[in-house]
Amino acid sequence: MRWFKPRPPDAAPTADLVRVGACTDVGQVRSENQDHLGVHPPEAPRLFIVADGMGGHEDGHEASRIAVEALVAHFSQARGALVDRLAGAVRAANHAVWQAAADKTALRRMGTTCTALALDDRRAALAHVGDSRAYRIAPGHALLDQLTPDHTVAGELLANGIVSEAEAGRHPQRHALTRALGMDAEVDVFALDLGTVAHGTRFVLCSDGLAPVPPAEVARAAAAYDPQDAAEWLVAQANAHGGPDNVTVVIVEITGRDA
Ligand code: MG
Repeated sequence: MRWFKPRPPDAAPTADLVRVGACTDVGQVRSENQDHLGVHPPEAPRLFIVADGMGGHEDGHEASRIAVEALVAHFSQARGALVDRLAGAVRAANHAVWQAAADKTALRRMGTTCTALALDDRRAALAHVGDSRAYRIAPGHALLDQLTPDHTVAGELLANGIVSEAEAGRHPQRHALTRALGMDAEVDVFALDLGTVAHGTRFVLCSDGLAPVPPAEVARAAAAYDPQDAAEWLVAQANAHGGPDNVTVVIVEITGRDA
């Protein structure tokens, strides 16, 4: 695998406003990949999704697949402000997973996280439920700005100032979800209007399988490499750190420079 492909320094911005990299892998321990990603459609407004399914048998795999498909379908038909369209599509995805789960026995509950970024030209919006993450990297800065809260027991304690970030990172319930799609007929969706994004901004969407990779390493690779190389390299790094979970990475770069 190529792990670094420098771009020519004087490369002209391409006609395409967005460069995308995406990679998902089962990891080193699990027998099945229950993550799904979506990169959709080729024309604006575009949609980038990471969903991390949970449930026994193949239910987690099914939950994340249903969520991505329902989100894409509802977003394409929705009207109104970008952030409202996106949040509405995530609520519709919740309903689709919940309905599919209702057909199962109580022992076979299924659910999924969902982190989605919508881009219309350079306007961006996020909608999110669960503990997958979205980060923003400002142009010229190899620093991760985490845009999404973790909907976990530890994440809620951190948000309420009860534990520090370091304490949350090693809290025994750092993986215990407090919100997921498919648990109920309604879900509280975290939504964020990011406004107009500067040229050169990059976004990283990932499942919690990327957690073993140190944040500085994620920032460095995601800021510097070609997005596809960065996504593949980060998945390989998660596996090199033991690959304890399914891992999914989507990297989106808004190309060009501000005048
Ligand atoms: Mg996971």
